[in-house]
Amino acid sequence: TMRDIATPTRTREILKQYGFSFKKSLGQNFLVDLNILSKIVDAAELTKEKGAIEIGPGIGALTEQLSRQAGKVVAVEIDQRLLPILADTLSAYSHTEIVHGDVLEMDLGTLIREKFPEQEKVSVVANLPYYVTSAILMKLLEERLPLENIVVMIQKEVAERIAAGPGGKEYGALSVLAQFYAEAEVVTIVPHSVFIPQPNVDSAVLRLRIRNKPAVDVDSETMFYRVVKASFAQRRKTLSNNLLNNLFGKERKEEMLRILAEAGIEPARRGETLSIEEFARLSNLISQASV
Ligand code: SAM
Repeated sequence: TMRDIATPTRTREILKQYGFSFKKSLGQNFLVDLNILSKIVDAAELTKEKGAIEIGPGIGALTEQLSRQAGKVVAVEIDQRLLPILADTLSAYSHTEIVHGDVLEMDLGTLIREKFPEQEKVSVVANLPYYVTSAILMKLLEERLPLENIVVMIQKEVAERIAAGPGGKEYGALSVLAQFYAEAEVVTIVPHSVFIPQPNVDSAVLRLRIRNKPAVDVDSETMFYRVVKASFAQRRKTLSNNLLNNLFGKERKEEMLRILAEAGIEPARRGETLSIEEFARLSNLISQASV
């Protein structure tokens, strides 16, 4: 409609009306393309029975579209200056709530329980601030939140890394952890021209469909994370060097080599060649040996 926030004209009008100046340190790049917005919202598969959590609503470009599709929307914004603007731009949506704060400091499990008592499915949908993309995604995944989908606009390279399979240089700890919990898919690539101000990099929309249960069985998820993170700690080092330096400690080399042999994994391989199944096998043997 005429009132959509996400057009260059209306966005500039709102920014001017409130004398808003962007804070680069908060990753403020606002979306001004309705076509991209509908791709993001469609990817989340929302209905009136479902809820959406947005991280960083800005002036409400995405929040407005989410509010039209979802039964309830909760948006977490760190920048206090945006609160009066959002109260104005989203005044038509009584089922939409803004929570002021830093998403990284928030207990999202409690937020979901308290804010979405009636919604059986909740998704996170966001155009993420790029300076904290990985930290936010790690938090959403590791806290095992009861989510259906995570649909996020992030830097293109990061999206491609998360969706990558083993063997290539893009594959890393974030790929393994994301694919452990979710099916990862790059929905679309987004040029930097659809933002005000324009970021220096291209972006992509990533969808993580959360699995009912993790892709592989592990005895201890904590150990699985530790093994994956240790294996990729220094990309140029072999798996055995990374595990020695970052998990076992040099004095336990014999034990580590025995475990690798038992897992059928060559010590000279690099972390980036291991499949999720191999990481699971390795981490189960290590937790049985209780590192
Ligand atoms: N959703 C809007 C859009 O698409 O136009 C704005 C997206 S902008 C890339 C990122 C937003 O996240 C900004 O509004 C910024 O203030 C907010 N933000 C940055 N760091 C945050 C944090 N740690 N917690 C919550 N919001 C944050």
